[in-house]
Amino acid sequence: MNRALSAASGAAALPRAMQQLQSLAGMIGQTPLLHLTVGFRGQTYTLCAKAESYNLTGSIKDRMAWRILRDAVLEGRLLPGATIVEATSGNTGIAFAALGRALGHPVRILMPDWMSEERKALIRLYGAEVELVSAAEGGFLGSIARARQMAEGRDDVFLPSQFDNWANVQAHEDGTGPEILEQLARNGLTPSAFIAGVGTGGTVMGVGRALRKRFPGLPVHPLEPAESPTLSTGCKRGKHRIQGISDEFIPAICRLDELSPVVAVHDGDAIRMAQRISRQWGLGVGLSSGANLLGALKVAERQGPDSLVVTVFCDDSKKYLSTDFARTLPAEPGHCCDEVELLDWRPLPAAGAGLHAALN
Ligand code: PMP
Repeated sequence: MNRALSAASGAAALPRAMQQLQSLAGMIGQTPLLHLTVGFRGQTYTLCAKAESYNLTGSIKDRMAWRILRDAVLEGRLLPGATIVEATSGNTGIAFAALGRALGHPVRILMPDWMSEERKALIRLYGAEVELVSAAEGGFLGSIARARQMAEGRDDVFLPSQFDNWANVQAHEDGTGPEILEQLARNGLTPSAFIAGVGTGGTVMGVGRALRKRFPGLPVHPLEPAESPTLSTGCKRGKHRIQGISDEFIPAICRLDELSPVVAVHDGDAIRMAQRISRQWGLGVGLSSGANLLGALKVAERQGPDSLVVTVFCDDSKKYLSTDFARTLPAEPGHCCDEVELLDWRPLPAAGAGLHAALN
């Protein structure tokens, strides 16, 4: 692309892109914080979970996609008409496809071919191109390498680079984290820890930083699948079924030296937990949400019944209908899902209480 031409049209188009981003912001964030009462091994615990399926495309990744695009538009790095190219295991692709198309950009998503069919179909339905990368072609790391090659020396290709881009962390440090703090404070609650499964690490790093500004020294735990302990061993290991977390390497933005010890959860346990949350509570959460609930309980068990561990329900179940989520799975050694009693949940009253106010 001719840089002078695109820069000139960029100057004219900037206010429009910013206006569109402002409108999209009205559909992202300000999600409900759920108050959960859960029995585990003879004790009752209170947990809180941010219900992130309430974002525009149904996952927590809308927050970071919006922030990365906003920063790039403001700094003149995303030129009008440029193709957005990203390697992703799914929710990020859906978020960039939707937001990118809403802003009028072509979007190309590279992803490992073993990701759920719903993810691939959704990304295509949002008008993006999907390029699948097999395990033999390098899987996730191969997808990232290909994305980088496509952008080399070109200003008509924009690489969000979610694994290296600090705007990913900032989306949660300035958004998710402060929202959690405000929702807890409004309801007279104090967090005792935060835990989140690590994909890019944006959530655990950003929310962790925001919560620690208010509560210095707060334990902030990254979570990973026990079958694929990449964070705790430093390199890719094994295979697991919790799509969205543990993508074969430790991302650059995930600074383990800032975080508390890694918590591991079995993938089958996480899936069975997500199934029970859906069946018993009517909350159709995704697989990593099942993992996060189990991880939060492990931390709560260590901290005691007065703890208040906070976590995130990153997305909902609709993207997992073709996976083991829709099958009956057996209990396996090391699973603790059957020791969990799902007692009660309610959304915490939010600012301008909406329906709550109407019903009271
Ligand atoms: N759960 C799901 C379903 C996800 O899609 C992701 C993002 N890949 C995560 C958890 C992890 O979020 P983060 O990238 O912020 O670590």
